[in-house]
Amino acid sequence: QRVQTSDSQLGAFLHVDAEHALARARAADARLAAGEGAQAGGALIGVPLAHKDIFVTADMPTTAGSKILAGYRSPFDATVVARLNAAGTVSLGKLNCDEFAMGSANENSAYQPVANPWDASRVPGGSSGGSAAAVAARLLPASTGTDTGGSIRQPASFTGITGIKPTYGICSRYGMIAFASSLDQAGPMARSAEDCALLLSAMSGFDERDATSVQQAPQDFHAQMLSAREGATAAQPLKGLRIGLPREFFPAALSADVNSAVRAGLAELEKLGATLVDVSLPRTELAIPVYYIIAPAEASSNLSRFDGVKFGHRAAQFDDLLDMYKKTRAEGFGAEVKRRIMIGSYVLSHGYYDAYYLQAQKLRRMIADDFQQAFQHCDLIAGPVAPTVAWKHGEGKDDPVKAYLADIFTLPGSLAGLPGMSVPVGLGEGGMPVGLQLLGNYFKEGQLLHTAHALQ
Ligand code: GLN
Repeated sequence: QRVQTSDSQLGAFLHVDAEHALARARAADARLAAGEGAQAGGALIGVPLAHKDIFVTADMPTTAGSKILAGYRSPFDATVVARLNAAGTVSLGKLNCDEFAMGSANENSAYQPVANPWDASRVPGGSSGGSAAAVAARLLPASTGTDTGGSIRQPASFTGITGIKPTYGICSRYGMIAFASSLDQAGPMARSAEDCALLLSAMSGFDERDATSVQQAPQDFHAQMLSAREGATAAQPLKGLRIGLPREFFPAALSADVNSAVRAGLAELEKLGATLVDVSLPRTELAIPVYYIIAPAEASSNLSRFDGVKFGHRAAQFDDLLDMYKKTRAEGFGAEVKRRIMIGSYVLSHGYYDAYYLQAQKLRRMIADDFQQAFQHCDLIAGPVAPTVAWKHGEGKDDPVKAYLADIFTLPGSLAGLPGMSVPVGLGEGGMPVGLQLLGNYFKEGQLLHTAHALQ
């Protein structure tokens, strides 16, 4: 009912299916009546959520926020969706996002923009803007998102909720519509680190249908979150934890309100026993050109499958096959998607590949190496998620480069494949929420969640 009465102002949902949700809720009730709720893995039975519309679902349409997939229905569920279904969650629908997850404000959705529940004149962040807004507006306790270059962390920060992007390969990409395959990663968005831990345990795990899925035993992230650090005390649960502050994450251009909220969060972590240490990630600025070469390159290849033959939209009138491809793609894709396909095709083309794509790949390796250098001196890295709080609708819409620059703090961790979180730490300009970014080394999700939980 709340979705039906308040989502018209919010725009977070692209599809709602109340009947389907009620049927699933009844099935959950039966499982709870049989006592399954108290068993291992039973915590999510009957918990309502919704999925970013980038995950394919057999029982609901999937659009990836694009007109080219209008009316598309997948014959199967994404692995993440199937696993959360098996855990007993009740999906209420599909959540709005930037077209093919390309964007930072949810204004690239082909359907509707999303309002930030804190201030409807502002964006909720992106690309998982619907996932963030629905949780922040308390329409849902949790949602799924995907993060290629910040799309879980940045909207979580802009809406004052908690989100985690795990290590690349922890959640299966099977059935997650591909944007940039070497970066795409699913994760939960919720009100707390604790809820994220429960969801991530259910969503993650090896999947033979994803060639880059990490072969590790199922993880209990909730238990990892709760497990006490060696030497910890009740007053100082983070005693001995070294948190690295990359000096490049606190540039002069960082807005003062974000800086002070992040510093307040860091002071809390110190009170909890953590030590702050100075570290450096010298190629932070280069993460922007590197990402905006690699991600469009992969997107130009991944999106070639949308040609009017196999999925979704097909132009009504055309002369021949080539003309059908051209018209279908011209009509079906939005401006940002076309821009990225053009950039990607350019950097991959003969004569430019070495100058752009190859250079970007080399720098990507160096950015990952910089993190390993930093992790010699600290256990976790912390800083802002984004340089500002959520901006007003329409601002930056006609200036893609400005929007790309705002991804500066989330892109390095994505390029390195590291796990990252956004944890709310205070309010900035206009009373808008500010998130603290925590980045861990590979497979340190438990440590991230433990730290965030201590802060909450
Ligand atoms: N804002 C970045 C982009 O537009 C990241 C998006 C994402 O993580 N899906 O590509």
